[in-house]
Amino acid sequence: MSPARHAAARALLADPLTNKGTAFTEDERDLFGLHGLLPPHVGTLDSQIERRMRALDSMGNDFQRYSFLRELQDSNEVLFHALVQSDLPKLLPLVYTPTVGEGCERFSEIWRRPRGVFLSYPNRHRIADILADPAFDRVKVVVVSDGERILGLGDQGAGGMGIPIGKLALYTACAGIHPAEVLPVLLDVGTDNRARREDPLYVGWRAPRVRGAEYDAFVETFVSAVHERLPGVLLQWEDFAGKNAYDLLGRYRDRLLSFNDDIQGTAATAVGTLLAAIRKTGVPLVEQRVVLLGAGAAGSGIAELLVKAMMAEGLDEAGARARIWAVDRDGLVLSDMVALPPQQVPLARRRDEIAGWTLPGSGVVGLRETVANVRPTVLIGASGQHRAFDERTIREMAAHVERPVIFPLSNPVSRAEAHPADLLAWSDGRAIVGSGSPFGVEGVTQVNNVYVFPGVGLGALASGATRVTEGMFMAAARRLGTLAGNRAGLLPPIDDLRQVALQVAVAVAAQAQEEGVASAPPAEFTEEAIHARMWKPHYD
Ligand code: NAD
Repeated sequence: MSPARHAAARALLADPLTNKGTAFTEDERDLFGLHGLLPPHVGTLDSQIERRMRALDSMGNDFQRYSFLRELQDSNEVLFHALVQSDLPKLLPLVYTPTVGEGCERFSEIWRRPRGVFLSYPNRHRIADILADPAFDRVKVVVVSDGERILGLGDQGAGGMGIPIGKLALYTACAGIHPAEVLPVLLDVGTDNRARREDPLYVGWRAPRVRGAEYDAFVETFVSAVHERLPGVLLQWEDFAGKNAYDLLGRYRDRLLSFNDDIQGTAATAVGTLLAAIRKTGVPLVEQRVVLLGAGAAGSGIAELLVKAMMAEGLDEAGARARIWAVDRDGLVLSDMVALPPQQVPLARRRDEIAGWTLPGSGVVGLRETVANVRPTVLIGASGQHRAFDERTIREMAAHVERPVIFPLSNPVSRAEAHPADLLAWSDGRAIVGSGSPFGVEGVTQVNNVYVFPGVGLGALASGATRVTEGMFMAAARRLGTLAGNRAGLLPPIDDLRQVALQVAVAVAAQAQEEGVASAPPAEFTEEAIHARMWKPHYD
C-alpha cells in the first residue's frame, strides 16, 4: 500500500463521522486498506451497541459513564447515537442533565479531542477564518454558550462547552438532525471562576471575563461571521447569565433565526405542561390564578408566555397580568421596588392592589403571604431555592383548591423547591405535580426543555423559517399540551421524544407559515416530509 493509502485508511478510522469500528465489512476493508488496523471479526451496529452498553453498566458512577460516552461520540458518531437511541430514558440523563453538570465542571480533566469550536477572545480576529473550515459546510444548527451560567452551577468558563455539545446530541437523538449538521460553539471570554482559572489543567483562556462594549463587539463579530458563513443557520443561545441572555436575545432575534432556550424553551415547556395539567382540572386557563416563585430567565419567560396564552383565550393584557403574581428574592414583585430587573417590570403589582391583603406585622409579602391571599390554583417554582415550597404554604394552597397544580421546576434535585412526594402528601394526593428533576415518584411528570427545543429547531428548519417567533413557541406549547393523550402523566414518556419532536415541529412549521416567516414550500413541512428528514443512526 502507498503511504497515501495508509494515511487515508487511518483518517477514515480517526474521523467520528466516517468511522464504523468493527462494523467495516470485508469489502470495505479491502477497498480502504483497513485490514490489520481492525481486529478480524466483522461486527454489526447491534453487536457494537451491546458491547458499549455492557461497558457502561460495568462502570462505577455516572460521571465515568458521561466521560465514556463523550469519547465514544468523538470516535464513532453513528454508534454513539444508536446507543443513545436504543434506550433514551437511561442514556439521556448521562448525555445531558443531570450528569452534564459535572461534565462541565470537570471538562478540562476529560478533554481529549476537538469537538465544535472554541472562539476565544484573543482569537477574535480569526473567527471568520476558523468558521471557514469546509467541515462546517453542512451545519444547520449552532448552539452557543459563553459558559457564564451553567445550569445552577455558575461560571464554568470554557468547561461550559459541555452544554452545547449535550444539547446538540439531543437535537440528533430527538429531532434527527444529522451529526454533520450541528456545531457546538463556546465563546471563551475568560472566566470569573478563580478556581477554574487557577487550575493548572484548565483548558480555557485564563483571564477575568471580558465585559461591556468589548464583549458586545466580540459577540457581534461572531454572529456576523456565522450569519455570513452559514446563512439560514439556526443559532441557539444557551446558559448565558441573566442580563446578557436578555440583551443578546433582544439584539439578534429579529436579525436571524435565533432563540434562547433558557428563556423561551423553558416557557413553552412549562406552559405546555400547564395546559395539560389544567385540562385535568377542568378549570379554563383564563380562570387560573398563578403564583410564580423566581422571576429570572425561566420564571419571567413562563409568565410572559402565559400572558399570551391567556390573551389568546379572550383576556386583554391587563386581565391576563392580573392573574399572575411573581415572587422573587425580596418577596412579591411590586412596582415601587428599587432597581427591578427589566424582565420583572411588566410583572410587578402596584402596592394598592394588595391594600386589602392580610399580612403579618412585619409587612413582608413573601411566598406564604402571597399564597394565603391569592389562593392560587397554580404554583410554579423557578427560583433555585431548595424546599421553598414548605408544608404550611402547600397546605394553605390545597385548602382552597381541589386540584392544585404545583411545578417545582428548579434543577438539580438539590435546588428543587419541594420533593414531589411531599407535595402529594401535603395535598392528600390531590396535587398535580411536575418537577424539573427526575424524582422517580409515580404520577409525577418531569418537565424538561428537551420536550420543546428539538421540535422547535426541526420545525424552523423544515419550514425554512427566517425567524423564530413567540407564536412558534406558543404553537409548540399548545401541541405539547395535547400529546400525553389519556396517559396518567402530563407529558409523553421519554421513550417517545422523537415522536414529540415531530409533532412539535409540525405545529411550529405551520405557525411559521401562518406568520409569513416560512420560506420553504408547504410540501416540505407536512408531517410525512418532516418525518422523512429525521436522520436515524445507521451505517451507509
Ligand atoms: P435565574 O438566576 O435567571 O432566576 C432565578 C430567580 O430566582 C432570580 O430572579 C432570583 O432573584 C430568584 N430568587 C433567588 N432567591 C430567591 C428566593 N429566596 N425567593 C424567590 N426568588 C428567589 O435562573 P433561571 O435560568 O430562571 O433558572 C431558575 C431555576 O429554574 C434553576 O434552578 C434552573 O435549573 C431551573 N430551570 C428549570 C428548567 C426545566 O426545564 N425544568 C428550565 C430552566 C430553568
